[in-house]
Amino acid sequence: MSDSKRVLIVGGVAGGASCAARLRRLDEKAAIVVFERGPYVSFATCGLPYYVGEVIQDEAKLLVATPESFRARFNIEVRTHSEVVRIDRAEGEIEVRDLGSGRVYREPYDALVLAPGAEPIRPPLPGIDLPGVFTLRTIPDSRRIRDWMVEKQARRAVVAGGGFIGLEMAENLSRRGLGVTIVEMADQLLPPLDPEMAELVRQRLVAHRVGVELGGAVAAFEQTGEGLVVRTANGRALPADIVILALGVRPESELAQAAGLDLGARGGIRVDERMRTSDPRIWAVGDAVETRDLVTGEWGVVPLAGPANRQGRIAANAICGRPGGFRGVQATAVCGVFGLTVAMTGASEKMLRRIGWTNYQAVYVHPGHHVGYYPGAQPIHLKLVFRASDGRILGAQAVGEEGVERRIDVISMAIQKQGTVFDLEEAELCYTAAHN
Ligand SMILES: Cc1cc2nc3c(=O)[nH]c(=O)nc-3n(C[C@H](O)[C@H](O)[C@H](O)COP(=O)(O)OP(=O)(O)OC[C@H]3O[C@@H](n4cnc5c(N)ncnc54)[C@H](O)[C@@H]3O)c2cc1C
Repeated sequence: MSDSKRVLIVGGVAGGASCAARLRRLDEKAAIVVFERGPYVSFATCGLPYYVGEVIQDEAKLLVATPESFRARFNIEVRTHSEVVRIDRAEGEIEVRDLGSGRVYREPYDALVLAPGAEPIRPPLPGIDLPGVFTLRTIPDSRRIRDWMVEKQARRAVVAGGGFIGLEMAENLSRRGLGVTIVEMADQLLPPLDPEMAELVRQRLVAHRVGVELGGAVAAFEQTGEGLVVRTANGRALPADIVILALGVRPESELAQAAGLDLGARGGIRVDERMRTSDPRIWAVGDAVETRDLVTGEWGVVPLAGPANRQGRIAANAICGRPGGFRGVQATAVCGVFGLTVAMTGASEKMLRRIGWTNYQAVYVHPGHHVGYYPGAQPIHLKLVFRASDGRILGAQAVGEEGVERRIDVISMAIQKQGTVFDLEEAELCYTAAHN
């Protein structure tokens, strides 16, 4: 990149911050400016449920970096409370609103990176804007939830949505002493998993006195003298002092759309494998983009931190003329619930059925997390899905107390290298009595 290059980045958390840091590593002279609407950059979104649960007690620990540390370490300028409101592609400029003063100004770019993320879904249901109904995305969101719980001396919570964030919130609210009920529209928790694997998670929640209401979406929220009531589509009425909406996220692609950039069918920004949008001077990364599934080739929006960070670095490479592209997303994910770990990578059987694949087989194994003769071995319930014709691994899911994510990480790498079940037979992994 030449001295005069000016790279502007919209959004300063996972994808935006990774992109900025990588750009600086590749080019010492470029002018790099990050615009962030909120008060913080580079914060640990994944830690927010644990801040609500007071496992993380010091809010400052959630800040991985600050505008000052970006300036001091990387010579990157970060402008917080700065919302990018328009992209003028013809001029190669953006319009920024300073949320403090209200002033709108323009900034020119040579390369623009969009990393605006995804926002929590808030369906237009009766009562959804009532006080006490929260979503969780930012540090101020988690602060509001914590304050409300203390102020209202909350005893009962309803978590709407039984995905990864919903489960983490249920555990953390329960940790704070609240009676929690999860309401999930599907007839299983963790919809990306196959139902028989998700059932193990349901059992663990129930054993810890978390209510699990499946097969009925939240339909309305009412304020009564006794607090809130959550009504579900299948006729349940659940009292609550606090409601957390964890109904999934929607790509924040309005800015891109208004600028005429191509979007995909799921509303995410369409990019090529170099994370370039339909405008050759604009890149996009993270939760806001659509990517292809590595196994099935299907387009999708997969809101996970790992892919966002990786895509940020790939966009930086591309801007600096370095080779390399995004290979596709595997949706490798892990979550802890009351001592149980649940993890997955690649395609589930459910997903393969949905897209009409039939050339696959599934196997279940239940090994101990270490050898049986060493005390304390805990079972891991593992399901592996592979192509019937040649043994190519398509996906895996596992649930257990210990060592679960290690298995899934190994299989995740095998999938990326297009490995087969026969490669797993030959894998040479760490082994001793207490770890295998
Ligand atoms: C509670 C919670 C827990 C999670 N836990 C995990 C986990 O355990 N593991 C995992 O892999 N993933 C987890 N995720 C998902 C992960 O946080 C996201 O996938 C990741 O943060 C996406 O990064 P991003 O950069 O695309 O978007 P974000 O991190 O959302 O950052 C986008 C930023 O852009 C800013 N922005 C948007 N529009 C503009 C604009 N016009 N102008 C200026 N700024 C703008 C936003 O304010 C936001 O701060 C979790 C998410 C949440 C909410």
